[in-house]
Amino acid sequence: DAIVSLQSVSKTYENGSKALVDVSLDIKRGDFLFVTGPSGSGKSTLLKLLYGEERANQGDVLVDGCNLTTLRGDRLSQLRRRIGIVFQDYKLIPRRTVMENVAFVLWAQGLPRKEIHRRLQPALKMVGLVHKADCFPDQLSGGEQQRVSIARAIVSTPPILLADEPTGNLDPDNSWQVIKILKKLNSVGITVIVTTHDESLIRLSNHPTVQLRNGYLYRPKG
Ligand code: ADP
Ligand code: ADP
Repeated sequence: DAIVSLQSVSKTYENGSKALVDVSLDIKRGDFLFVTGPSGSGKSTLLKLLYGEERANQGDVLVDGCNLTTLRGDRLSQLRRRIGIVFQDYKLIPRRTVMENVAFVLWAQGLPRKEIHRRLQPALKMVGLVHKADCFPDQLSGGEQQRVSIARAIVSTPPILLADEPTGNLDPDNSWQVIKILKKLNSVGITVIVTTHDESLIRLSNHPTVQLRNGYLYRPKG
């Protein structure tokens, strides 16, 4: 019952960089997994394979019943809609309000206005930013901007949430707030995969962890 499965996956970039080497990993529906490891160890690449931003050279990448190794076009777009993504640098649209940033995904999917408004409120509430709905990104702290990007990632209720170094630009307090929100999302059934090189966050959180080093995956004992 794995929702994500990597089976002997290798990824080498065109310039010869070996980002992942023979990585196998099963993630069950409803799991919360940390992927740790130093910069350049392959963490981003692993997530990119899961949402189809990059393709594996070898092995199979299975996500929510689809094989990403062969999936293309519309089928790939459909799968991507079922994956929420959060980045280290938030990637918010600067000249749009919080509400517009979050609504954009639904609007792009062609949902009616009423339906968009019905879904916005719970997403903003989940990240505690209902009162900032009309602010622009540059009026928010880094922590708040990251919470907007989480709201945007979950507004279309995806079963899987990927977060690539979501706390990389945040101080310890804001980092912990972000992790608490990810935990809350996990507790309502979303499968969460988070990359981080912050060992203290991992220790505080008490979730399973795998480690990447030079593209090789290691599981801690015990
Ligand atoms: P991490 O997220 O752990 O920092 P990455 O997955 O970004 O690691 O990178 C893994 C390796 O692949 C690194 O050696 C990096 O330089 C290389 N790499 C990442 N993206 C590309 C790319 N688009 N082209 C070439 N090499 C890349
Ligand atoms: P992240 O998602 O972690 O920000 P980046 O795309 O910045 O990942 O890439 C992380 C690493 O991969 C960096 O070391 C960067 O230099 C390297 N990298 C990214 N794109 C390329 C590329 N096109 N060619 C070579 N190295 C790359």
